[in-house]
Amino acid sequence: MKVLIIGIDALEYNRVIEWDLKHLKLNEFGKTRVPISEGFGEPVTLVVWPSFISGSEPDVMGFDAPIIYRQPLKFILEKIYFPLISNNKPQREHDVSIMEKTTVKNKIISRTNYILMKAGMGRYPERKDIKKPTFFDNPDYKSIHHNIPVYDAVFTTEDRDSARNGVIRAINDKEFRKDFEKKLSEELKIGSENVFKHLQNPSWDLYMQYFYVLDGIQHVYYKNKLKLMDYYMKFNEFVGRVKEKLPNDTLLLIVSDHGQENGLHTNYGYYSSNVMLGLTNPNIFDFKTIIENKILKK
Ligand SMILES: [Zn+2]
Repeated sequence: MKVLIIGIDALEYNRVIEWDLKHLKLNEFGKTRVPISEGFGEPVTLVVWPSFISGSEPDVMGFDAPIIYRQPLKFILEKIYFPLISNNKPQREHDVSIMEKTTVKNKIISRTNYILMKAGMGRYPERKDIKKPTFFDNPDYKSIHHNIPVYDAVFTTEDRDSARNGVIRAINDKEFRKDFEKKLSEELKIGSENVFKHLQNPSWDLYMQYFYVLDGIQHVYYKNKLKLMDYYMKFNEFVGRVKEKLPNDTLLLIVSDHGQENGLHTNYGYYSSNVMLGLTNPNIFDFKTIIENKILKK
């Protein structure tokens, strides 16, 4: 059978339930377990997605933090410095806003990372850093993938810096916020058009399309419930249309790397499948084998 994966960054389980987004609730759905990056205290996009596509724990996959440091610096930072300065208590209540969080530990970590990267001591991960084969690399079937973090997208230090500063600036600056949202809407439009293009010509066995938009929207508009609802509805409607155009015998899988509450990442992801998989609170690493077996009819 074919497999279509819609990767939606930061899709929150609680919002899907609260707003009863029926197209996002396929035949089987629930929370997933995702890796939490040490020192960051939360799941991070640049680690969770490579773990998902390679079906491996971060340290086996190749990196467990969103920045690759040179040794022995890596050891010192990850084992001593970050645990020392970070508040590693799980933030169950999410009672601090992203701005407060930014002023406490993340500001120090961000600043440290920025200086180290400028000094050439650290860099963002690239495809070559993923040491395990991903489900796209299986030679026994045809894969298409668009926009997959790390695997497809190459982030420069400047890109990530402007993305991060973009979120902070968009919270405070009304004019900038409009441009920020416009860029994200554009991503949703281009990505969904891409999906329909590939649904019209399903010459693939596995196809994954990734969307960043919901992460940025929730970081910036976390107090504006109507705005959040608007974007969740857009994804709900998009998946509804995808279901209508889905080729026969195709597994549709919606996956998120983490959710968000009050502008902060939650410590679990989300999955939703049109085929009953019989999973309970699966680990995000579990899906690679399931996907490959479905395609190869094992
Ligand atoms: Zn985020």
